[in-house]
Amino acid sequence: MTDRALSPRAQRLRDAGHKLTNARLAVLDALETGGGHMTSTEILNRVNARDASIGRASVFRALDLFTRLSIIRPTYIDSSMTPAYVMLPDGHHHHIICTNCNRVIEFEDCGLNRLAAELERRLNVQLTGHLLEFYGLCDRCAS
Ligand SMILES: [Zn+2]
Ligand SMILES: [Zn+2]
Ligand SMILES: [Zn+2]
Repeated sequence: MTDRALSPRAQRLRDAGHKLTNARLAVLDALETGGGHMTSTEILNRVNARDASIGRASVFRALDLFTRLSIIRPTYIDSSMTPAYVMLPDGHHHHIICTNCNRVIEFEDCGLNRLAAELERRLNVQLTGHLLEFYGLCDRCAS
């Protein structure tokens, strides 16, 4: 494994002192190439298509670790039973979810950095990321 083959997130993982095991790299790759929202089953299938020797337990341990590091968050946008994991590029991820047609609109700019800094000061906490979801009617359903 050479440095130039590492994605920025793999780099971040290693910088945080975590070993880049096969399973962790395969899960990270599945998430990065999977196009955004993936259930654990989809991640598992993708990982096993690449390397069948990686077990279910290692995949779930990797997902837990990535969640703790705010690389991903589980969200229940597509189903109330199985969470989909979303990536938190730069530590955040934002949705507007239409309560009528369930359409999910993504947006980048949240302007919450000031609020995060203020909360850290006021409540003496260390924030590593956020997942923000607005609910309402999309343009199609509102008109
Ligand atoms: Zn809608
Ligand atoms: Zn999303
Ligand atoms: Zn944000």
